[in-house]
Amino acid sequence: MGRPRTASTVTTKCPSCGAPVHRELVGHTAALMVTADLTPLTTEQQASIRGPNRLIWCYRQPTWGTPRLTWTGHWHPPDCPHHHVAEHQCPPAEPTTLF
Ligand SMILES: [Zn+2]
Ligand SMILES: [Zn+2]
Repeated sequence: MGRPRTASTVTTKCPSCGAPVHRELVGHTAALMVTADLTPLTTEQQASIRGPNRLIWCYRQPTWGTPRLTWTGHWHPPDCPHHHVAEHQCPPAEPTTLF
């Protein structure tokens, strides 16, 4: 039994808003640190969220091992069995009009 391999993926909390997020270094030549929400999206939600500034990721949770994000920017199977999540964006600060 050796030491655990250095993981490039981690489930953590957003330092800004505290939401649970998945952080992963994605990419081969130009590595990109991606912070993604953990909430699976419906097809409709993906269509409304997807945009030039916000990517949708295929969140593949293997039976064992660490989950991996896969970019869905190219053609992606509509019946993909994996969860799809959006790049994390902190919710806008709500005006404090509650009291
Ligand atoms: Zn997928
Ligand atoms: Zn946040």
